[in-house]
Order: sequence, then C-alpha cells, then structure tokens
Amino acid sequence: MIFATGNQGKIKEIKAILGDIGEEIISMKEAGIDIDIVEDGSSFEENAIIKAKAVMKLTGQLVLADDSGLEVDALGGEPGIYSARYLGEDTSYEIKNRNIIERLEGVEGEARSARFVCVIAAAFPDGEIVTTRGTIEGVIAKEPAGENGFGYDPIVYVPEYKMTTGQMEPEAKNAISHRGKALCAMKKILEDRKIIK
Ligand code: IMP
Repeated sequence: MIFATGNQGKIKEIKAILGDIGEEIISMKEAGIDIDIVEDGSSFEENAIIKAKAVMKLTGQLVLADDSGLEVDALGGEPGIYSARYLGEDTSYEIKNRNIIERLEGVEGEARSARFVCVIAAAFPDGEIVTTRGTIEGVIAKEPAGENGFGYDPIVYVPEYKMTTGQMEPEAKNAISHRGKALCAMKKILEDRKIIK
C-alpha cells in the first residue's frame, strides 16, 4: 500500500503505527513515483485528498495520504495548512519555532493554545474517497524542548503529559498524536472492509 508522502519523519511514524497490518506500507519514493503534487486545497481534508487521488490515478491502487499541520489559536490558526511552507520550505525549524514563540510574546496561559491536526485520505481505485481526522491539543512552549520527533514538536507542550511532543518517546507520541489517532481510525475502516488484517 502506498502512502503518498515524501516526509521521512512522517513515514517513520506511519510505519510504526500501521506496522502490524499484514501489508507493506511504502512511500512514494520507495514505489518509484516522483511527481510534484500541487497542494492548493483550502483545508487539511482537501490537500490530503489531492495527494491520495493524484497517486491513485497513477497506480490504479488504493493510496493513503495525509495532510497535517499546527494551528495556533492566538495566530488565527496559523501556520495551519501552510505549516511546511511557513517562512519558506527551506527555512529551518529552529527558526520557524523561534518565530512562533516570538509572535506569542505577551500571550499567557491558555491563550497560548495550539493543536496538531492530521487528516488521512484513502483514495480507492473505484474513485471513492474516505477521510479521517485526529488532533492533539497543547500550548506553545516559551522555549523549545526535546530532540525527538520533527518539525514543530519542540514547541508543542502537552499539559497532560507535562512535556512537549519533542520530548516524548516515539511510541508515546504515536499513541496520543494527531497522526496516531487519524491512522487508527483509518486502520479500523480498512479492517472493516477486509482490506487489511
Ligand atoms: P504536510 O506534509 O503538508 O502535511 O506538512 C505538515 C507539516 O506540519 C510538517 O512539515 C510539519 O511542519 C508540521 N507537522 C505535522 N505533524 C507534525 C508533528 O507530528 N510534529 C511536528 N510537526 C508536524
């Protein structure tokens, strides 16, 4: 089963979460697919569907894709669907994370609320599309912390666990993360349809 992403951080998490389905998950690169997909949707759902559909049309097989990002309430939901492109695709996350912390100067407590969102889309060969959504709620930390994970993980502090998602062990993050929740919901749908074990 192809998972339409080129992001190695994500594919690592996806393989860990879906590892036991009796079907190999491969990335676009591993499937030898090298296409540029224009993510011009206006929601996580639209972008996930655009990616899954584009690759399904090439392969004729069931394709999964995800779109995810960080929503910061005090910034009107930014960076949102533009999370990967925020301040430029090639800008380091050290800079992106620092910038978000700086933009939240003077914002205290619960007003620093933010969440990771993940939508998984499945594009079936007959044209049917199914999506699932998962979120994890947190607040933007005052200082980055943690070496695990990727992207914005060092600045998303989850009060319930008293640490950032960047400080969580990979298994712990996968068990509660936006991607973990959305993938588990998709896994259940594919199991119910007897597509996976
Ligand atoms: P996408 O490839 O368009 O879905 O971009 C998602 C972007 O959102 C990533 O490149 C990260 O910047 C951010 N993001 C999504 N999920 C996570 C996560 O679990 N940890 C940290 N950053 C994330």
